[in-house]
Amino acid sequence: MILPSNEQWMRRALACAVRGGQAGEVPVGAVLVGADGTFLGEGFNQPILCHDPSAHAEIMALRQAGELCQNYRFPGATLYVTLEPCTMCVGAMIHARLAKVVFAAREPRAGSLVSARSLLDSGFYNHRFEVEEGLCAEESSRMLRAFFRQRRLSAQKQMEEQLSVMVLGKHDKAD
Ligand SMILES: [Zn+2]
Repeated sequence: MILPSNEQWMRRALACAVRGGQAGEVPVGAVLVGADGTFLGEGFNQPILCHDPSAHAEIMALRQAGELCQNYRFPGATLYVTLEPCTMCVGAMIHARLAKVVFAAREPRAGSLVSARSLLDSGFYNHRFEVEEGLCAEESSRMLRAFFRQRRLSAQKQMEEQLSVMVLGKHDKAD
């Protein structure tokens, strides 16, 4: 059996991110791969859809893997994620005993592996995992930028529509 490459796994995570974006969520996707190189779980960011603040892509992938493996720990597993994980997700990855996390783009404000802070170096965890970054980073960043640009445009359009309703309303009164 020929196992997919790192890049192929990250492309699958990017495809998950696209699904999130189509659902109106911030497009982030994740795929968990077992120690033997086989697929364990995947997910996309969906806190709005799920009414669940913990429904980040990484958590969704871990939950699916948990169902599949009937276990909550995945020693030797690698998680591919399109954006640098937040504090919550790094915590969950430590609890899951992952061996490695590969992320695409950095998250300058909340990224908790290398950007805003390096949680693994905090000294209070009893497990560490290897970190690799930059794989397909440009594609992930482009997708995120396009999503936020689109969101700004629709917010602007909505505001303009509201303003025109207000202006028209006043105009009606003046008549
Ligand atoms: Zn997260």
